[in-house]
Amino acid sequence: MAFYLENHTISYGEVDILNNINLSIKKGEKIALLGRSGSGKSTLLKNLFDLQKKNSSYIPQELGLINNLSVFHNIYMAHLDTNSTFYNIRNLIKPAKKELTIVNEILEKLFLNDKILSKVSQLSGGQKQRTAIARSLNDDKQILLADEPISALDENLSQVVMDNVKDKFQTVICALHNVDIALKNFDRVIGLNDGKIVLDKCSSEITSIDTTMLYNVCK
Ligand code: ADP
Ligand code: MG
Repeated sequence: MAFYLENHTISYGEVDILNNINLSIKKGEKIALLGRSGSGKSTLLKNLFDLQKKNSSYIPQELGLINNLSVFHNIYMAHLDTNSTFYNIRNLIKPAKKELTIVNEILEKLFLNDKILSKVSQLSGGQKQRTAIARSLNDDKQILLADEPISALDENLSQVVMDNVKDKFQTVICALHNVDIALKNFDRVIGLNDGKIVLDKCSSEITSIDTTMLYNVCK
């Protein structure tokens, strides 16, 4: 089991945001978390990350990139804690060829290799999202927790990202508000509305009534 929540409530101060959530997620599942803004997707994903920090790569909604560093450095950062301090400092000043090659290969998959030496502050929203995705693809973790990672990407690039993350990670939990992308790419769909799970089904069992409901909870 990757996650098991039983009657789990998540609060900010006195305010309960997610109420009595029951959720079990097995290793290997690919899950889309759907719901409109304010429904609790980010709160739930962050809580899942806190439960499995060691095994998870997390892409927060605000991406967590360092704007005045290059795309290369932001992606290299996934390995800061596995490399020595000396090696990290050397790569900060002058990236090693080996590291540039590794990062470039990841960026090529996301059609972003021409930006490898650009500062993150000079990128568009979609390019920043792909940089955060590349950082996760460079992270040796089994679980990906991604919070609306493709909201600024067109359909083709969204699909490229989905294919790459599903290929790399054993377990994927991804907040989205695009119902079509969710049903096409994920084995299981969880609908959140106002802090409650209103739907939790295998994508293959989703009926047209469920689809209508999902469109409504994502509006
Ligand atoms: P979503 O990601 O689906 O847009 P969030 O998880 O961000 O939803 O928010 C769910 C609810 O929690 C909202 O009502 C929001 O106002 C509240 N909330 C989010 N972050 C905080 C916070 N740091 N402090 C207090 N309330 C928060
Ligand atoms: Mg959110």
